[in-house]
Amino acid sequence: MANPIYSALPTTIFEVMSALARETGAINLGQGFPDEPGPEAIRRHAAEAVAHGYNQYPPMAGLPELREAVARHYQRFQGLDLDWKSEITVTSGATEALACAFLGLIETGDEVVLFAPTYDSYLPMVRRAGGIPRVVRLQPPHWRFSRADLEAAFSPRTRLVVLNNPLNPSATLCPPEDLALLAEFCVRFDTVAICDEVWEQVIFDGAVHQPLMALPGMRERAVKIGSAGKLFALTGWKVGFIAAAPALTQTLAKAHQFLTFTTPPNLQSAVAWGLANSDDWFASMRADLAASRDRLSQALKADGFTVLQSAGTYFLNVDLAASGIAEDDMSFCLRAVKDAGVAAIPLSAFYESDPVTTIIRLCFAKRDETLDEGARRLAKARELSRAR
Ligand code: PMP
Ligand code: GLN
Repeated sequence: MANPIYSALPTTIFEVMSALARETGAINLGQGFPDEPGPEAIRRHAAEAVAHGYNQYPPMAGLPELREAVARHYQRFQGLDLDWKSEITVTSGATEALACAFLGLIETGDEVVLFAPTYDSYLPMVRRAGGIPRVVRLQPPHWRFSRADLEAAFSPRTRLVVLNNPLNPSATLCPPEDLALLAEFCVRFDTVAICDEVWEQVIFDGAVHQPLMALPGMRERAVKIGSAGKLFALTGWKVGFIAAAPALTQTLAKAHQFLTFTTPPNLQSAVAWGLANSDDWFASMRADLAASRDRLSQALKADGFTVLQSAGTYFLNVDLAASGIAEDDMSFCLRAVKDAGVAAIPLSAFYESDPVTTIIRLCFAKRDETLDEGARRLAKARELSRAR
C-alpha cells in the first residue's frame, strides 16, 4: 500500500521536538531557527514584491536577478567564477536542492558515501532514489574522517559523496587538509560531491569558508547547495540555490521541474536585493551569533555542563555523560521538554544505526533572556534526571 522507505520513517526530530515545545510551552532550543524575525529591509522588499511585484510563475531556473546575485555573492565571498545562466538554479530551500541532486544523479545500485552524524533528510532520499549508502562515522570531539575511512568507503561504484560543511549537528568546519583528501578521492573514483554548504556564512572566530568546488579537479564534479534561510536568518523562506557545472545543472533542472518547478518570485526578488546589500548584515550576524554562543556556553559551563566547541551553525553540543548525566540523549530530551520546559535535539537522531547517545544539540540563535532561561531549565532537567 505504501512505499516502505516512507512508511517506516519516523517523523523528523525537528518537528517532533518543536511540536512538543508548542504543546508544553517550552523554550525551544531544538529546531534551528532564530528568535529574531530577520533583516527588516529584506522583509520589506518581500512585502513590496507581494503587493506590487510579479506574483505569477517565474522562470523555472529562478529569477535572473537572483541567479546573477547568487553568482556575484559566491564570486565576492568565495572566489568562485560561476556563469549564472548555465550554472545557477533556484530551488525551494536546500531541502529541494538535495532532493534534486539525489533524484537527478543516482541510478539504482549506485553507491553514495555519507558521513554520520548525517543531516536527517539525506539517507531516506538517497535510498528512495535507489542509492546504496556507505556511511563513514565521524568521531567526537573533532568529527573528522581519515584516509583509511575513505579507502574503506569509496569504490568504483561510488557515484556520489555528500559533504555537509559546516556540519550540522557537530558545529565543526571541515579542515582544508580533509577537503583536499576528499577531493583526491572524488577525482580518483570519478565521484560527484554534493556539497551542502547552507551554513557557509554562519561561521565564527574569523574562519573563512572554503567551498569544496574550489579545489583542483572539483569544479566540474561539485554540486554546491546554499540557502537564503541561513544566509539571512529567514529559515521559513525556503529559497535555496544550486551551483554546478552546466552538464550537471541541466540534469538537476529535470529533477527540479517536477519537484516544485519554481519558488515564490516575491521571496526570490527580496533575496536578490538582500544579496546585493548585505555585507554589513553578514558581519553583524556572525558577531551577534558568536556572542549568543558564548553566552549560552558560559551559562552551561557555570552550571557544570561539558560543552563541545562550536565553530559555526546555530548550534552547540553538550556531552551528557561528561556532564554527569547517566541517561541517553533521547530520554533526557523528552524529560527536558516535558518536565523542565526546554527543548533540545538528541544527536542520536542523526544516526541510522549504532548512534552516539550521549550528546544533545542546542540552538543559540536566541535572545539573551531565552538563552539564560534555557540554561536554567537545562540545569533543572539535569537535576530531575539525577533524581530518577
Ligand atoms: N541542510 C542542512 C545541513 C541544514 O541544516 C538545513 C536546515 N537547517 C537544510 C539542509 C535545509 O535547508 P532549507 O531550509 O533551505 O531547506
Ligand atoms: N535544519 C534545521 C535544524 O537542523 C531544521 C530544518 C527542519 O526542520 N527540517 O534544526
